Amino acid sequence: MLLFLIVLAAVAVWVVRCYFWPFTSCRRCRGKRTNPGSSRKRWGPCKVCGGTGQRQVLGSKTVHRVVRDTLTYHCNRKDR
Ligand SMILES: [Zn+2]
Repeated sequence: MLLFLIVLAAVAVWVVRCYFWPFTSCRRCRGKRTNPGSSRKRWGPCKVCGGTGQRQVLGSKTVHRVVRDTLTYHCNRKDR
């Protein structure tokens, strides 16, 4: 039961995080946008994030879709 509550709390935190902060700094370049192995001879945008310095939090798209669908569902039901 305790484990269930911990998992539930973790999921809740994750959902809130995904909804309000869907982007986080890239793991590889840590938001610097350039290739971590950059030198004078060889440098360029980070390949992982494509030079944006950001990456989308895993599942954030799903969270946004679920929230949008839920709101749409409730709005439609109110109209009827
Ligand atoms: Zn990056």
